[in-house]
Amino acid sequence: MYFVVFAAFVIILSVPEAGPPWSTINSPVWRWIIVLGQIPLTAIVGYLFTRSVIKKLELEPAWLQNAQKKLNRGNLVIRLTLTAGIIISIYLTDWVVYVRALKPIKGIWGMDEIIALLPFFAAIFAGWLCVYPADRAVRQVAIELQLWLSIPARPVWRLRRFLSFMFRHQVMIIAAPMIPIVIANDFAHHYGPQLRRLTGLAWGHEAVLVIIAGGIFLFAPVMLRYIWHTRALPSGELRQRLENLCRRARLTYRQILIWESDGMVVNAAVMGLFGPLRYILLSDGLLEMMEDKKIEAVFGHEIGHIKYRHIQFYLLFAILSMLIVGGITELMMRTIYYWSEYFEHISQAQDYLHVLAMVLIVMVWGLGFGGVSRRFEWQSDLFGARSVTPSANECNRPCFVHDTALTPKPADQKQSAMICATGAATFADSLHRIAILNGIPIEARSWRHSSISHRMQLLKKCAQDPTFAARLERSILIIKITLLIGTLIGLAIAVWLYWPTN
Ligand SMILES: [Zn+2]
Ligand SMILES: [Zn+2]
Repeated sequence: MYFVVFAAFVIILSVPEAGPPWSTINSPVWRWIIVLGQIPLTAIVGYLFTRSVIKKLELEPAWLQNAQKKLNRGNLVIRLTLTAGIIISIYLTDWVVYVRALKPIKGIWGMDEIIALLPFFAAIFAGWLCVYPADRAVRQVAIELQLWLSIPARPVWRLRRFLSFMFRHQVMIIAAPMIPIVIANDFAHHYGPQLRRLTGLAWGHEAVLVIIAGGIFLFAPVMLRYIWHTRALPSGELRQRLENLCRRARLTYRQILIWESDGMVVNAAVMGLFGPLRYILLSDGLLEMMEDKKIEAVFGHEIGHIKYRHIQFYLLFAILSMLIVGGITELMMRTIYYWSEYFEHISQAQDYLHVLAMVLIVMVWGLGFGGVSRRFEWQSDLFGARSVTPSANECNRPCFVHDTALTPKPADQKQSAMICATGAATFADSLHRIAILNGIPIEARSWRHSSISHRMQLLKKCAQDPTFAARLERSILIIKITLLIGTLIGLAIAVWLYWPTN
């Protein structure tokens, strides 16, 4: 869902002031049918999946795993419906033009974009509303199975808590930083001439926008801390152990937080670029339903993200993606100017390029970011496995770290790079347990993560074959170097192109 919400904001930002440069549907009746139609359409998709899940589950509770798969597929179809809805209503109708012409909205920065997105948000809500009964039924059966095994569990969340949780975690995580950016974008646009005069730069207004966006990105963790209901992890044995883990890895952070979800979510996360603004989150479900060793393994994964500076490299990815897309559109613009005698409407060509730039941004993020993120997750998995390496007499598998492997050690591998087979198994067990407790099929993939079963296989392979682990680490190093050098080269070209000469 993150990606769909992110794409929706980018799409709305891509629409030029006067609307899409191509001709759009401007019959009022069709405009309203399309714009509002996405809400019932999403609801119907949700309803159909829910009905088939519930019907089957009532007859056959043992069908649970398939029910989870089906629910997962339903959520995917809902996301596709939402994506189609936003693209069609924004790009193929005069909806944005209509909203921008509304009198009371005109003077308020960001208001037109937010209102234009309202039907999209309403469609998201409609989808959740219709999926809730299936989500509830699946969780109910899963809980009954747990109670059979005498594992304590909380009652399933009510509709209101479900909607509030989903909204805060799936929409607000993107919307909270994007809304200020949309407002800043209108502001920079409105005061463009003044900002250019003030800074003496032709791109002064863009520079101001980038600075504001950077500030928002920096402080987003503080915002999210409150949007996702969190509280400090109380002191005790577990916190002591986790703090020791951080001390051993020599990292700084602001706080370890419990992330409240009525026990429905078993997960952990880390956010923040710098120590003073960095939080490590552990969900209440994780703390309640997993053993301490597994919590430590999951926590180890999160500190792996900090240790390997993944968040900083995500920032580089963001900068580089903008430099690449900016570079491509700039090059095309200059080509158009060069051949301008062949073009009738330069300003229209500019509008097309503006839309194209945003489409490119969505593509770079959809394809590139997913690939980078999956690799970073693997690297953190390895760190998590290392953080639960047992002592030699607790390790009960053929293992390179503890010199009990069945094959000779590869000569050129560093001891510190190897993964203990027992540590890897402990970590893989934690992943598996997370999938079960969250009701995620282990084959389910997402934009940012490869499937749990794939991650488990990868861990096993890394423990069994140190050269494979080394190759994986090397490929991630190459990604990082590419991001760093690419950004430096891009910035150098930008400075060379735009440095004020007089
Ligand atoms: Zn992770
Ligand atoms: Zn071992």
